[in-house]
Amino acid sequence: MVRALSDSELFEAWERGFELESAQRPLAFLQAVYPDTEEEELLQWSIGRCNADLVSLRQGRFGSQMEGVVSCPKCGQTLELTFSTAEICAEQQENTDHGLTVSKGDYRLWFRLPTAQDLADAARLRDHASARTRMLEACLMEAKRNDEKCSLEELPETAVTAMVKKMEEADTQGSVLRELSCPECDHQWQTTFDIGAFLWTETDAWARRMLRDVHTLASAYGWQEEKILKMTPRRRQFYLDMVNE
Ligand SMILES: [Zn+2]
Repeated sequence: MVRALSDSELFEAWERGFELESAQRPLAFLQAVYPDTEEEELLQWSIGRCNADLVSLRQGRFGSQMEGVVSCPKCGQTLELTFSTAEICAEQQENTDHGLTVSKGDYRLWFRLPTAQDLADAARLRDHASARTRMLEACLMEAKRNDEKCSLEELPETAVTAMVKKMEEADTQGSVLRELSCPECDHQWQTTFDIGAFLWTETDAWARRMLRDVHTLASAYGWQEEKILKMTPRRRQFYLDMVNE
């Protein structure tokens, strides 16, 4: 369980997030949790490790119940989802510090797990195919056909698929799949849950709500922002109710 962030730490993370591209925003939360860790180092963490901390942060800050909406890809019906942080917490991942290997036919591949940096680099590319290639190139350390070295382009798709599968197994928290079914048309599909994007949207809504409350109380009583933010939520709400009466 990571340390819970205070209101002012969460505000700082929110403000820093605005300066980042959307794929990198989760980094602002990790920087707030680990202020003594260099950004360079955080970027080398596997996506699964980052996500596990973000889930933990979310639980400590906003509770374990999560709500969201998705649209059915077949009929467009909007579905409301409720799930818990426990459901999106994957099992402990295996130790992958020394990289991973996979063999497929004559091919043998050595690779590492995708990191937050890889994700940020891939996100800059517009189309899905080039983003995937970029990510795989970064992670593939060496590939051999029998004893001869070969590049990513020379690998058969079956070998690449085996590598991706092994990555997913090793970094379970990297991509959390959920099975969904539409009550309207019975269509069933899988969707990946992006804790980073979810937490950003939620924090953004929280920050805007807080600032509106500060505005209301500062206008009514002339109090400083700092003083208002330091109040317990209960006391702040009490004053807000009186202003709004
Ligand atoms: Zn549907």
